[in-house]
Amino acid sequence: MKFYVLTLFTDMIKDGLSHSIIKRACDEGIISIETIDIRDFAKNKHRHVDDYPYGGGAGMVMQAQPVYDAYMSIKHKLSENCPVVYMTPQGKTFDQRKAESLSKLEDMVILCGHYEGIDERVIEEIVTDEVSIGDFVLTGGELAAMTVIDAVARLIPGVLNKEESFMDESFTDNLLEYPQYTRPAEFMGRKVPDVLLSGHHKNIEKWRKEQAYERTLKKRPDLLSKK
Ligand code: SAM
Repeated sequence: MKFYVLTLFTDMIKDGLSHSIIKRACDEGIISIETIDIRDFAKNKHRHVDDYPYGGGAGMVMQAQPVYDAYMSIKHKLSENCPVVYMTPQGKTFDQRKAESLSKLEDMVILCGHYEGIDERVIEEIVTDEVSIGDFVLTGGELAAMTVIDAVARLIPGVLNKEESFMDESFTDNLLEYPQYTRPAEFMGRKVPDVLLSGHHKNIEKWRKEQAYERTLKKRPDLLSKK
């Protein structure tokens, strides 16, 4: 899958996504992440891409033209149904289900805003989806874009290896994951549940399922009502 990120802070995206599993997936060519610097499309000598809001008010607004030109510079590389996702607190809240549907795509464009946001007209012109990562306001869309890329990329076949499998993970089947333990078998007087040391796979599976239900009921009962 190819991710194209339109941003004013390309290094943030490159630095943030050049570690661990996502780096390995890029190195192996399973995914690619291309950043496009919106500032490269400024038409003035100071490379300004923002201006004062019409009607007054605090802050600056990213101008439509550099965002549009940045998008047009990659349009020829995109698949026919490639979505253009604007990261915004006004969008639909991102969740595992959205990550699953995006992970089936060939490519996606992510648009990151900054300052007070982006001139509405270019949003109307190019954006197909508006996605928020929660009901709070960030300074820019980059952290949100990285969150989406990370969550989507790990669902793409080959990105996680067998040991890192996501099959029983939280939100699969609207359940939270059962508790996990590793060595040693005792830590500060707290013992690993006997069943996990028994080697009895059926009993372990049963225990994990019960734990998953119990946890979900305790921590996120809202998920169970979706089952
Ligand atoms: N003035 C905008 C508003 O009130 O809706 C907020 C602008 S915010 C300071 C700057 C940029 O950060 C936004 O254009 C968006 O790209 C990004 N952003 C902020 N909060 C976000 C969130 N919860 N989810 C996704 N992106 C967010």
